[in-house]
Amino acid sequence: MMDSPRVAYFCMEYGLDPRFHLYAGGLGILAGDHLKGAHDLGLPLVGIGIKWKQGYGRQLIAPDGQPMDGFRNYDYDAFLDDTGVEVTVQIKGADVRCKLWKTEAFRNAPLYLLDTDLPGNPEAWTTGRLYGGTGEDRVAQEIVLGVGGVRALRALGIEVDVYHFNEGHALLAAFELIREKREAGMSLYEAAQGTRQEVVFTTHTPVPQGNESHPIDRFFYLGADMGLTREQLEGIGGSPFNMTVGALRLSRMANGVAQLHGETANRMWAEVDDRADIRAITNGIHRPTWVDKAMLDAAADEEAELWAPHQANKRRLIDFIAERTGTRLDEGKLLIGFARRAVAYKRANLIFSDPERIGPLLESGRLQLVFSGKGHPLDDHGKELVAEIVGKARQYPNSVVFLPDYNMTIGALLTRGSDVWLNNPRRPKEASGTSGMKAAMNGVLNVSILDGWWPEACEDGVNGWQLGDAFTSDDVAEQDAHDREALYDVLLGKVVPTYYDAPEQWQAMMRASIQSTREAFSVERMLREYVEQLYRTPSAS
Ligand SMILES: *Cc1c(COP(=O)(O)O)cnc(C)c1O
Repeated sequence: MMDSPRVAYFCMEYGLDPRFHLYAGGLGILAGDHLKGAHDLGLPLVGIGIKWKQGYGRQLIAPDGQPMDGFRNYDYDAFLDDTGVEVTVQIKGADVRCKLWKTEAFRNAPLYLLDTDLPGNPEAWTTGRLYGGTGEDRVAQEIVLGVGGVRALRALGIEVDVYHFNEGHALLAAFELIREKREAGMSLYEAAQGTRQEVVFTTHTPVPQGNESHPIDRFFYLGADMGLTREQLEGIGGSPFNMTVGALRLSRMANGVAQLHGETANRMWAEVDDRADIRAITNGIHRPTWVDKAMLDAAADEEAELWAPHQANKRRLIDFIAERTGTRLDEGKLLIGFARRAVAYKRANLIFSDPERIGPLLESGRLQLVFSGKGHPLDDHGKELVAEIVGKARQYPNSVVFLPDYNMTIGALLTRGSDVWLNNPRRPKEASGTSGMKAAMNGVLNVSILDGWWPEACEDGVNGWQLGDAFTSDDVAEQDAHDREALYDVLLGKVVPTYYDAPEQWQAMMRASIQSTREAFSVERMLREYVEQLYRTPSAS
């Protein structure tokens, strides 16, 4: 067992298994890998989350090419144990029961899930849909996660040294810790200082609008104030109350999820006084979940061929695409994968922006593109982006594919079976990007903007390619024009010729990609850094 303080890890979502629909995207994937890595290392860590009855919406594509969200109730009985324990939280003045489930079914550290879906329970729908509903619903969900989560730990008799909030969603756990201490007789000041010593916080999105905030009245209306006054709440999170700011003020240490993101986050929150330091701990991935063992073994043996195991992965992807979409791609032709949340700054459509240069390659089939990605159910712009890509797939039916309903299964297939993994967000908006790590360790060459984790790994032309030169502009049109040129330069000038004309060099790059990332971006490395930099108190280390 790795020597570490006892940790309770709080997150809204967990991506542990494709059949377990408790995640929306990267945040949940990271949390799932965190729990699996903690299990493998024997860390004393438990997860706290929510049992989402309908998960996140399933994405369907209507005949007219428009995406739609589908919802159904999931049955997780096979993975869950009933702890027989319930806790109660107060939402809008009513007592709401939260049943506690437990799972270790995915070789993960124990995960406890709160569930309000009980007969006769007020606000039973609170744990209905992940990120569903209004701002009020969100605060109700955060009461369940944060307040319910701390009460669950008490009811289960689990002792905790460190509360780790993965994102600001869990902040109300700190309010509950403060309330407990005041109830035990401490002053507010002592209670807040004591709580701060127990809490660590991981911040994610470097996009300001992505950081949730609420009018302070909403906290009183829902009962999320936990006995704090308006002035006290304002002092913690400002007004409107920003969950990230609150978490930075109620934690002893915080981190961003890549080295560049750590810098961006420090700049972004420079104006917030009396807050935790933000360090950088680059994400990592759980290799057994995401990486093909045959590729890892082949890369470790200098004599071994990488091409055969890669082509086997590529065929699995091509078969899956044929089954899902009816389009059979050519395994002898270059295949580029792109899967991201459908949001404007990730620019899924950048590659199409000069049809004269890209069109001929798509028409001849020398270049094949596979896309996947969902928007937020309430984001119409994200839906337009998806419809645009579906339109491109119809325009180039033999070489462009859109796979609906991006999920862990599709993520694993794409990051094993593509030849190239493309990432071209507007810099510096990508926090980390773990899909690129999955690709790199599978010998799928990254072509990426120097954003997120990639500046730490990229040796241009050796283990993948950098896209552009870290150019950044506040003028969106200028940035896009610059990055479009850079994308075509690297794609047409380097990637396509290397693939078709220098297969030995391509294979050497695949090997370099795997060797240079397999340890450095593993979840074990990440967890050691969490233990050393976040979980251990400064005096203890
Ligand atoms: C790996 C993965 C992610 C995270 O990918 P990013 O690189 O952060 O975009 C999101 N969703 C799924 C289904 C994944 O498998």
